[in-house]
Amino acid sequence: MSRKFLIAGNWKMNLTPDESTSLVEEINAVAGNQTSVQVCVCPPFTSLPVVSEKVEQTEVLLGAQNMHAQPSGAYTGEISAEMLRSLYVSHVILGHSERRQYCGETNGSINQKILAAIHANLKPIYCIGETLDERDSGKTMDVLSSQVREGLENFPSSALDLLVIAYEPVWAIGTGKTATDEMAQEAHLGIRKVLSEMFGDSASSSIRILYGGSMKPENAAGLLAQPDVDGGLIGGASLSAKPFCDIVEAAISSL
Ligand code: PEP
Repeated sequence: MSRKFLIAGNWKMNLTPDESTSLVEEINAVAGNQTSVQVCVCPPFTSLPVVSEKVEQTEVLLGAQNMHAQPSGAYTGEISAEMLRSLYVSHVILGHSERRQYCGETNGSINQKILAAIHANLKPIYCIGETLDERDSGKTMDVLSSQVREGLENFPSSALDLLVIAYEPVWAIGTGKTATDEMAQEAHLGIRKVLSEMFGDSASSSIRILYGGSMKPENAAGLLAQPDVDGGLIGGASLSAKPFCDIVEAAISSL
């Protein structure tokens, strides 16, 4: 079963449209013409229009960092799937631990967004991951299993080709602490087993599971060499072209 690597950059609440333009131009210069691995950038909403124009003629994909579950209406400050589609966004990060922590998102509310995303033909990058307390008390796989089962409730098998999962241990995000290669592989394999129970072996073996949490050029090759690690969701190291593109190169080299 061949799963193409996806290297996605989560720019979070960083970069003005001008700064975003410069960064995506640098990324395009390195990754814009290759098709060996998929590369996706996820700028803040305000930069989506300029970055959309810049990636239009390239192989770089465009992602958003969130969306609302409803198609339209009185939801001040929110953005719908259709609005993202109108800017040629193909991917949307959903359930990031920062949104779970600061914005009260739950497996249930994220599930509504995931279903709305696929309804609009957007590819959800569904983030899951355990906290340090949960890991230390031996609950990692229980937490991941609930996040997968509840977040993907009623997910239609016919849309599984749209789905991407990102395993992001909360204790590794923005902390400089990375899961070891073995810890990442163990979690990814466990997630794939849950997917297999839900959707069957064949579907499960074709769903990409990205690793996220302080991925950088120095640790990318080891993580990407794990059989169930199918790419990375990169935060801090995606804010400059050099480390991000070095991770892309590491993915290409490991093919
Ligand atoms: C993230 O926020 O998705 C992330 C993985 O961040 P960082 O790479 O900075 O840990």
